[in-house]
Amino acid sequence: MESDAKRRARATLSEQHGWTCHYCGMPLVPDGEWDTYCNKFGDSYLEPSGMSFPELDHLMPRSKGGSSKIDNLVLSCGKCNHQKNDKTEGEYIGWLNR
Ligand SMILES: [Zn+2]
Repeated sequence: MESDAKRRARATLSEQHGWTCHYCGMPLVPDGEWDTYCNKFGDSYLEPSGMSFPELDHLMPRSKGGSSKIDNLVLSCGKCNHQKNDKTEGEYIGWLNR
C-alpha cells in the first residue's frame, strides 16, 4: 500500500474510532504530532511512554485472505500489531485474554 493510502486510512479510522489501539486501548500518537517525538537528529522517533505510534492492522490477516480495504483495517499499537501477527481478530482477543 502507498504511504498516502496509509495516511488516508489512518485519518479515516481515527475519525471513526479515535487514536487508540483497537485491541488493548493504548493511546496512539496522532498523525501530525509525530514530529514532537522526533529525536534531536531528526532521523528517528522516540515513542513517548504509555503511547504507541499507530500501525494499520488487518482484522483478517492477509495471509488468510483478508483484504487491505478500510473495512478490514484497524489502528493498533506496535505491540499488538507484532503479537497479533497472522491471528484473526477473534483469535488474538482470545490470546490476549488467555
Ligand atoms: Zn494494542
